[in-house]
Amino acid sequence: MSNSPAPLSTWARNVSPSPTLAVDAKAKALQAAGEDVCGFAAGEPDFDTPEHIKEACIAALKAGKTKYAPTPGIEPLRQAIVDRYLAEYGLKAAPSQVIVSPGGKFNCYLGVLATCSPGDEVIVPAPYWVSYPEMVKLAGAVPKFVLADDRTGFRLTPEMVEAAITPRTRLLILNSPSNPTGAVYSRSELEAIVAVALKHNLYILSDEMYEHLVYDGAKPTCIATFSKEVEARTITVAGFSKTYAMTGWRIGTTLAPAPIAKAISELQSQMSSNVTTFAQFGALAALKEKEKTSAALKVMMTAFDRRRKMLHAELNKIPGVTCLLAEGAFYLFPNITSFGLKDLDFCNRLLDTEKVAAVPGSAFGAEGYLRLSYATSDEIIKKGVERLARFCATLKK
Ligand SMILES: *Cc1c(COP(=O)(O)O)cnc(C)c1O
Repeated sequence: MSNSPAPLSTWARNVSPSPTLAVDAKAKALQAAGEDVCGFAAGEPDFDTPEHIKEACIAALKAGKTKYAPTPGIEPLRQAIVDRYLAEYGLKAAPSQVIVSPGGKFNCYLGVLATCSPGDEVIVPAPYWVSYPEMVKLAGAVPKFVLADDRTGFRLTPEMVEAAITPRTRLLILNSPSNPTGAVYSRSELEAIVAVALKHNLYILSDEMYEHLVYDGAKPTCIATFSKEVEARTITVAGFSKTYAMTGWRIGTTLAPAPIAKAISELQSQMSSNVTTFAQFGALAALKEKEKTSAALKVMMTAFDRRRKMLHAELNKIPGVTCLLAEGAFYLFPNITSFGLKDLDFCNRLLDTEKVAAVPGSAFGAEGYLRLSYATSDEIIKKGVERLARFCATLKK
């Protein structure tokens, strides 16, 4: 008789660890071992949280804001979130429609859990953010990938969405601006896709995490503003991590129709309870002290925009590499298919020989690409593309 314990659960055995965090960890380990690594794998701003946000958190901590708070968030923060949707998009909502969760990632997962039952299908546009397929599977639902490559600017057409819908389809995930491609849909493109979702009575999870990180005058679109019908089936996720360089704070937001918001809050009440109470006061300052916050955002965006243009120009000088100029987030997604190498092999060899860390497109459901984050210094970008060019020159085409 064997003494080994019973196998772990379906959930434990089926979950894939985050490949982006894995590459980043490998690069950091090399760096710690004294190697001169150029890291393009980071999924977070290289800036620190603005000072006034930290100060507000420290003040709250000192004032004893150290107890449990209401599960969906402290009242002034939920009100401030409602106020900002009204100010930025003209969207009217009540604080009861807002849930503050421990990181936008958890907001997304709760949105899936609130709408999907086992066996339901979820349309996940590819290249996708690595967590969507896993959270869909953890809800017992089935991800249905629809790939939009660089020929359509990494943007789905309504026809592609329509073709993926079956009687089991329950939810459509949208993410504009996109991680990993930086693609930004126009309002009319989204209206056409959302019309298909309406026709088939789907819920929409709109991950608008990068709404404030747009360039070239591109405008973010808040899908819930399209119409009352659309609003009634749309779960909007946003947050503080990317816009305010607050990734480690773990604060994300959901805006949803009242019945869905109530369900999400109840799920959260059993799974995590409220976001760290004093951290919420930092988030509140980010929304309330608007001038300081927008000044900090402007500094960050000026740097991102400069790096975006530089990286884009340098990548396209490399024979065999082609790269679209993304309008949002802080990623570029160059095509490397001309080298005839699997992207995972490409990335491993690039890291081993040139100490450049990039995430393979296959991690996002799109073989033949790299995701390069330019949330890193100008020097590293310059040095990194030089090394990448040298590496590409050694590959037979
Ligand atoms: C970073 C990110 C999130 C969530 O970030 P948190 O750190 O959990 O707040 C959600 N969606 C996308 C596409 C992201 O890139």
